[in-house]
Amino acid sequence: MADQQAKDSSMPRREVLKHSLRGALVLGVGGVAGALSGPRRREGAVWQLDPARCTQCGRCETHCVLKPSAVKCFHTYAMCGYCKLCFGYFRPAANALNAGAENQLCPTGAIRRRYVEDPYHEYTVEEDLCTGCAICVKGCNTFGNGSLFLQVDHSLCVGCNECAIAKACPAEAFRRVPLETPYLLKGREGEA
Ligand code: SF4
Ligand code: SF4
Ligand code: SF4
Repeated sequence: MADQQAKDSSMPRREVLKHSLRGALVLGVGGVAGALSGPRRREGAVWQLDPARCTQCGRCETHCVLKPSAVKCFHTYAMCGYCKLCFGYFRPAANALNAGAENQLCPTGAIRRRYVEDPYHEYTVEEDLCTGCAICVKGCNTFGNGSLFLQVDHSLCVGCNECAIAKACPAEAFRRVPLETPYLLKGREGEA
């Protein structure tokens, strides 16, 4: 039923892609604005997470001083395969490819799945529900295109002098960078 409702209101995939890219740009700009205030501005630097180094160990969820963590799952839609079987969304032993809670990988149900057109589906992360656990990121990077990845959300991060996650990260994926370039967005490398 949910898939049928989405199908009736679906837009062509290229329109979804254009829409999603606009969304990604807004996210990046909003994050930069968030990084331009408070103690981070005075220090002139922020903590940045390199998704190419991240091994999805889970410490981004458990070691941030904030609960839930300031690290969130980001999505580069232009890299996504819009797969019917998304390894970032479905449990390996899912009984059916639908949005039943028993089929979902994300422990908080933070990823929304929407039918686009056969066989494509769009996956959207609800940041408020995301704890930065990296479970979906591991699934997407192991079997998919790697379009899901972690980043520090600078509208949430309080800019600790010594980032507790950076200290615990086994992959040395954190480093301090100028606040003008706080994000490393997959598919948009070199942009803020
Ligand atoms: S602590 Fe490091 S390796 Fe672990 S999830 Fe965070 S960035 Fe990835
Ligand atoms: S699986 Fe973890 S990292 Fe991915 S959306 Fe859910 S809470 Fe966020
Ligand atoms: S600097 Fe502090 S608030 Fe920001 S991600 Fe690291 S531990 Fe969390």
